[in-house]
Amino acid sequence: MNFSVNEYGYYGNFGGAFIPEMLYPNVKQLQDSYIDIMEDPAFQLEFQQLLKDYVGRPTPLFFAEHLSKQWNTNIYLKREDLCHTGAHKINNTIGQVLLAKRLGKTRIIAETGAGQHGVATATVCALMGLPCVVYMGEKDMARQASNVARMKMLGATVVPVSSGSKTLKDATNEAIRDWINHAADTHYIIGSVVGPHPYPDMVARFQSVISAEIKSQLLERTGNELPTHVIACVGGGSNAAGAFYHFLNDDQVQLIAVEAAGCGIDSGKSAATTQLGTMGILHGSKSLLMQTADGQVTEPHSISAGLDYPGIGPLHAHLFESGRARFLWATDDEAMAAAMHLSKTAGIIPALESAHALHALTQLEWKPSDVVVICLSGRGDKDLDTYMKNLPS
Ligand SMILES: *Cc1c(COP(=O)(O)O)cnc(C)c1O
Repeated sequence: MNFSVNEYGYYGNFGGAFIPEMLYPNVKQLQDSYIDIMEDPAFQLEFQQLLKDYVGRPTPLFFAEHLSKQWNTNIYLKREDLCHTGAHKINNTIGQVLLAKRLGKTRIIAETGAGQHGVATATVCALMGLPCVVYMGEKDMARQASNVARMKMLGATVVPVSSGSKTLKDATNEAIRDWINHAADTHYIIGSVVGPHPYPDMVARFQSVISAEIKSQLLERTGNELPTHVIACVGGGSNAAGAFYHFLNDDQVQLIAVEAAGCGIDSGKSAATTQLGTMGILHGSKSLLMQTADGQVTEPHSISAGLDYPGIGPLHAHLFESGRARFLWATDDEAMAAAMHLSKTAGIIPALESAHALHALTQLEWKPSDVVVICLSGRGDKDLDTYMKNLPS
């Protein structure tokens, strides 16, 4: 089976580029040039140097002793939480800003929901001295005031979006409108493996550093570069795409994606796209998404802002449909319990998103010989308010 994108931007039945005509020149320019730019040795040198000196890569692959004893197997945590800014998102924003500079773009725009992608984008724009405009729904700005403050401190302009539900999808519409109006000088940074081709493939390639490092770190630790399982949470799917990337064609490696079930799959308050979604078009690509019978996107729910998204990237829809990856889910409460457990037994406070991946440990059977890698996509500092509500008094 083939898990690479084809020349039309499809993974099996999913993908493509469904865009307004006025964006065609921008998207076509990206499609025609992204591989050549990314494979240019001078580009790679600059990218790798920044990943090392600025992000702090390679991130450790940590053997979690207590968890391994508990489940009588071998559990490793890929510590993306130790990246600069506290999550994997910066791998992609660095890559896209460098690419935008190669394309001669002088201005960066992004949309953000919870603010994490906005902060990662504003961070790299500050580093590179590029003006940065971040579109954010008014409702999200109120909910995520500290990330708004971070973006402003980093020099970005945060534009409140008051249309529609005043959340991520409305911010996305405004960002697209901006891009149409400033097509010549502006690059639009998408924060996950979603959007029109080539974004899903481009973002997956930037994040693939995660699985490249897992391979070499496992080889050094165990003498075998292949684990038996790789587990990652899926919002849009970028940390999972990065963690799976170099194992996609290694059939003996089980790939496990964990979605957010919110209050429960059948509760009406969930974000488990593969369980509830159907084929449709969202943010420029054909994929699985949560929608009503007449095609209106339904409002998702998850306790973790990063997983509170009504779709998944086309690669993941293909991994689901083909059976190459197994899709599990964790509810808000289960993720909360997993976060508390890791904090107490490993001294690591994970992001709520990453806690969904940790919950998968309780859902599968483990053998003593298994080698399980869990992508710890981010750290939990940003979730402290939510954690505080759940601490015993
Ligand atoms: C944004 C985010 C996610 C979800 O995004 P993906 O594109 O699915 O990786 C997961 N974990 C953390 C810590 C995040 O910030």
